[in-house]
Amino acid sequence: MKIVFATGNKHKLQEAREIFTGVEILSILDFDKDFDPEEYGKTFLENAVIKAEAARAVTGGLPVLSDDSGLIVPALDGAPGIHSARWGGVNGDHARNRAKLRTDLSGIADRSAYFLCTAVLICPAGNALVATGRVDGTLIDEERGDGGFGYDPMFIAQDDTRTLAQLSADEKNALSHRGRAFRKLEEMLRCLALIG
Ligand code: IMP
Repeated sequence: MKIVFATGNKHKLQEAREIFTGVEILSILDFDKDFDPEEYGKTFLENAVIKAEAARAVTGGLPVLSDDSGLIVPALDGAPGIHSARWGGVNGDHARNRAKLRTDLSGIADRSAYFLCTAVLICPAGNALVATGRVDGTLIDEERGDGGFGYDPMFIAQDDTRTLAQLSADEKNALSHRGRAFRKLEEMLRCLALIG
């Protein structure tokens, strides 16, 4: 089975390939090298659907996987949330995003935070499966580790002592918001295959 993942983020692509075993995960960039739809939605779900629909238009009848995710900091009233990718002002500039977050958090004692992911699997006819995943943790000021991407070097998951950037790919996938959402979708696919 082939599924096209509607992301230009190579880290996410790698994560999906590790989680959806038995499925060939193709990159949307092989269908549209400039794929980067405007994410004008107000929720993770709306943005995930925008990406899925934009990809469905160019994938020639293949199912599409998409996700939208971000970091929620309760002490910052839920920011950066859906703006996580461009929090520092430049889309996808992770170092700037982390620097801005550090500045926002200065003087704030409550460092609790969580990542949320909404994942969508959309069939060529437009029917969709949706799953969500969440990982809770704490933000630290310094950056530790060089794995992962985004806010990983600042985020320590509950019951762990290392940042997400210090975990192996398998360890991150086991507990991450996207890993959790993707595994739910994978279980749904297996379940549907049983009745298919
Ligand atoms: P998206 O690609 O539109 O879903 O934007 C997600 C943004 O949220 C990324 O650019 C990161 O800033 C942040 N983010 C999402 N997932 C992760 C993760 O697993 N680790 C670190 N940051 C993440």
